[in-house]
Amino acid sequence: MAKPKVAFYWCASCGGCEETVVDLNEGLLTVADAVDIVLWPVALDFKKKDDESLGDGEIAVSFINGSVRTEEQEEMAKLLRQKSGLVVAFGACAHLGGIPGLGNFCTRDSIFQRVYKEVPTVENPEGITPQEKTTVNVGELTLPEFYDTVKTLDQVIPVDYYLPGCPPPPDLVMNAVNAILTGNLPEKGAVLAPDKALCDTCSRNETKPEKLAMAEIKRPWEIKVDPEKCFLEQGIICLGPVTRSGCGETCIKANQSCRGCFGPVNGVVDQGTKGLSMVASILGLEDEEKMTEEDVGKLIDGVVDPAGTFYRFSLPASLLKRKRME
Ligand code: SF4
Ligand code: SF4
Repeated sequence: MAKPKVAFYWCASCGGCEETVVDLNEGLLTVADAVDIVLWPVALDFKKKDDESLGDGEIAVSFINGSVRTEEQEEMAKLLRQKSGLVVAFGACAHLGGIPGLGNFCTRDSIFQRVYKEVPTVENPEGITPQEKTTVNVGELTLPEFYDTVKTLDQVIPVDYYLPGCPPPPDLVMNAVNAILTGNLPEKGAVLAPDKALCDTCSRNETKPEKLAMAEIKRPWEIKVDPEKCFLEQGIICLGPVTRSGCGETCIKANQSCRGCFGPVNGVVDQGTKGLSMVASILGLEDEEKMTEEDVGKLIDGVVDPAGTFYRFSLPASLLKRKRME
């Protein structure tokens, strides 16, 4: 019997999601044995035309990581959608926009200005920036368009399932692969991770007092972080209350608070707003009546990078989506 065809593709990605596939270790051999990989640019030399020649829906499942930043990524995502029975948005960038999505606080022009003209290590006296078409003596060279706005995968093509995380942990990937191979899948559109907040599974939850109050926000390097105590109790912002579980608390175990890469639980439209409202609800001096405008200002200033703190992984998927364009 023919093995199911599987494709892996990366869009605007750091490559960490590809690492997770390799981190399946011997599990990768089981997967490679059970399926026929038809595209995996980071590891195998397939060409786009190989996939163009396949019939519509012939690929059983495409795992696509990275957000969509360029014309080429959009074109490949659309090709894989056409050729695949299932498409899985693999990792925080494909799921919510991820770290590249923070580029939505800038414009293409301001990014090009900074990267190609202002960065101290760049020498570019003629101020040349990437062009979609360049004529050289052997003909015309082209580059894909670099979009102004970073998009999530499902803002470009319909997505069947989401594997959250930056990157998704190998056990979650293996569970998803097994579910797909056995046809034991939840309803379309599901996020393939538990629908519970991280606090529910966090080993520090018991140390979180019933009534939390943060009188000051601290950054991890400013204090000696207690490895047993809830981060919020120590004055460090932790997005565990507004983030889906399933990561295995990797960051918490490394004494780092949750930054929200798994995205929100079902039903939450905007993880950043939810995080902001969670922190606002516990921020304050013990005697709120006595708080002055100055006290409030000081507390708010404690969040050094509000956009990066609350929307680190989810700006393109948020209600805001991007900085307002003129
Ligand atoms: S989700 Fe994280 S690991 Fe995966 S491509 Fe994006 S930044 Fe890299
Ligand atoms: S807020 Fe963070 S440290 Fe505290 S219980 Fe939740 S996930 Fe754990």
